[in-house]
Amino acid sequence: MRNYDYDLFVIGAGSGGVRAARMAAGFGARVAIAEERYLGGTCVNVGCVPKKLFVYGAHFAEDFDDARAYGWDLGGADFHWPTLRDNKTREIERLNGIYHGLLDDAGVEILAERAVLAGPNRVRVGQRTLTTQNILVATGSWPVVPPFPGNEHAITSNEAFYLDEFPKRVLIIGGGYIAVEFAGIYAGLGAQVTLAYRGELFLRGFDAGIRRFVADEIRSKGVQLRFDSRIGSVERRGSGLRCTFEDGRNLDVDLVMAATGRTPASGGVGLETAGVNVAAGGAIEVDRYYRTNVPNIYAIGDVIDRMQLTPVAIAEGMCIAHNLFNGESRQVDYDNVPTAIFCQPNIGTVGPTEEEARRKHPNLVVYQSSFKPMKHTLTHRAERTMMKLLVDGENDRVLAAHMCGPEAGEIIQGLGVAIKAGATKADFDATIGIHPTAAEEFVTMREPARELSD
Ligand code: NDP
Repeated sequence: MRNYDYDLFVIGAGSGGVRAARMAAGFGARVAIAEERYLGGTCVNVGCVPKKLFVYGAHFAEDFDDARAYGWDLGGADFHWPTLRDNKTREIERLNGIYHGLLDDAGVEILAERAVLAGPNRVRVGQRTLTTQNILVATGSWPVVPPFPGNEHAITSNEAFYLDEFPKRVLIIGGGYIAVEFAGIYAGLGAQVTLAYRGELFLRGFDAGIRRFVADEIRSKGVQLRFDSRIGSVERRGSGLRCTFEDGRNLDVDLVMAATGRTPASGGVGLETAGVNVAAGGAIEVDRYYRTNVPNIYAIGDVIDRMQLTPVAIAEGMCIAHNLFNGESRQVDYDNVPTAIFCQPNIGTVGPTEEEARRKHPNLVVYQSSFKPMKHTLTHRAERTMMKLLVDGENDRVLAAHMCGPEAGEIIQGLGVAIKAGATKADFDATIGIHPTAAEEFVTMREPARELSD
């Protein structure tokens, strides 16, 4: 092993790559990590972290309004975009420094350059060729903009965090995580927002009841939702953009954002030189231990396109480090991965959708509740919260919990543990609620909304 410069060379210092590098070094491996852009990858720089800060920022509009009902007179509230943008950037730069420190402290060599595979055990970095026993490709993913005339005018989430000016009118194309989260951000910060989705109901893959519920909530916050709507073209008109849809309708906006998925960043990494197999969509093909077809070359995170989620990439990175340098043969369990969408109100979910559960569990029992959050009993806000529990009628196991409402992610995280541990509905019923919270509803739902064997 010592004939090589390194035991592990990681390409890409995003969430997965950094965790694998630090952990491998902790096991005594000689590790280098190459990153040409920013430490922390998408999540820290142009994803989860700045997005959540913007979500906090956007929610103040409603908070100020709601405060009046609680006796606060705030006068006119004014939003200043450069303050939010630049404070966010300062925080991201602080986090970049923390990532640098964590890698340094772990003894990982950081190469702030592009690295390209030059063979199964060779990596080219600038003019140098380095040798390594193992290579981990963790290059992440990159936003995709669909092909339509004028698509060069559309920004993606990469640019959304650094806008010079805050737009008055925004069109968002897409109906996934990023589209609904940014619809809430732009609307909360004062823009007039239209979200155009090509299908009949956005958030494909999530529970249908939750999707319908959140569509109503988002609409009631003033966002125009256009379903079955496909963009035809975008052209510059003065300082604005004229968007034309395939059905002939026009919309004039200041900003068009494509939130239409992310593609694995597998190009330009030298995979073909090293003989690594890549699937048609660009994902690197790996087995359940993240091994590519080339011995000693591994891949994790968005570039393998299993679940494009930071905590999943981190779990995969830890798995690699344990297996390579601690003599284990761990695998990541992709069942019941909890996730949240930070739209407004938030969605939190763990386990199958009702539609999926129904196919596998003929005796599915569905508990469902929707109510006005206590906070809004004093305000004029019509916002409601929805919760669902799916239970296997055969053995009483809770299969899934879905929620749309404030702090849904915080609530579902805990339920994720219960579901992972195999909790039954009787366990939920035997759990005393915390009063008064929204979360207590999950342990007090007594009457099924539907029993599908009926
Ligand atoms: P998603 O895959 O979630 O959604 C993409 C959306 O774009 C879908 O609605 C899709 O429609 C639509 N779309 C795809 N191609 C086209 C096209 N050619 N024309 C029109 N519409 C199109 O991707 P996102 O970009 O929202 O996010 C990328 C990933 O990042 C997510 O999958 C998620 O894993 C991760 N992420 C996670 C977050 C979190 O954990 N909170 C937050 C943000 C991102 P259709 O449904 O019809 O295919």
